[in-house]
Amino acid sequence: MTTFEIRGVRADVLIGQEKREEILTGVDLTINSGETHAIMGPNGSGKSTLAYAIAGHPKYEITEGDVLLDGQSVLEMSVDERARAGLFLAMQYPVEVPGVSMSNFLRSAVTAVRGEAPKLRTFSKELQETMGNLSIDASFAARGVNEGFSGGEKKRHEILQLELLKPKMAILDETDSGLDVDALKVVSEGINRARSASDVGVMLITHYTRILQHVRPDYVHVFAGGRIAESGGPELADRLEEQGYEQFAKAGASQ
Ligand code: ADP
Ligand code: MG
Ligand code: MG
Repeated sequence: MTTFEIRGVRADVLIGQEKREEILTGVDLTINSGETHAIMGPNGSGKSTLAYAIAGHPKYEITEGDVLLDGQSVLEMSVDERARAGLFLAMQYPVEVPGVSMSNFLRSAVTAVRGEAPKLRTFSKELQETMGNLSIDASFAARGVNEGFSGGEKKRHEILQLELLKPKMAILDETDSGLDVDALKVVSEGINRARSASDVGVMLITHYTRILQHVRPDYVHVFAGGRIAESGGPELADRLEEQGYEQFAKAGASQ
């Protein structure tokens, strides 16, 4: 049983050399293994900032609070240590690594997380199988990481990493953005396979409710003004679909 806790997190974005602005204004959230929590909210509410702050992106500084995986602060860990502890943050990985093939990159990532290199033949088989499930053409294994990938291909690659790395806790930021209906289905099925293969906890950050029709969340949180403004079950997503974010945007702004 894994517990991921975000406790009273406040964070600034660093703008240039001198300027900073507080974006996260006190985020509290606990995710247990096997649970999927959707974080929904209007553009600019700070959802990605939360993901980047947890990932340790240098542009974002947590000024208060803590983030704990099984009681251990991840904020003091290096990016590698976070991955080895079982935290999966899609955006911690390089956007593009020209010259490094997908298969080499993924084998290194799996080696780093598992602590030992998987046998080449076993890994190749697992990779081909997982790629096939995600409708990623076999030729991609030899291509440079994300080099010239379309938006949809990058998203599939994220889910490919998720399925191969088998983390304890996964943070997925707008995995659904820019996907057509078919790609959304493929990506959602990948998330669902990862969920049923292990008891991974998932933080699914999204602007739109449509992915939640494929990936059923256990909890839904509305993000507004840099914090969680309301929490509920899946029915909260249905209410958002009907009523929009306006009521929450006002609530967040008045904080
Ligand atoms: P969301 O993901 O919910 O759309 P973001 O976390 O991307 O929201 O952004 C929250 C706020 O922080 C926005 O007002 C955005 O302009 C600001 N912000 C985020 N990152 C940066 C940055 N690197 N430089 C300047 N402002 C930023
Ligand atoms: Mg956004
Ligand atoms: Mg965002």
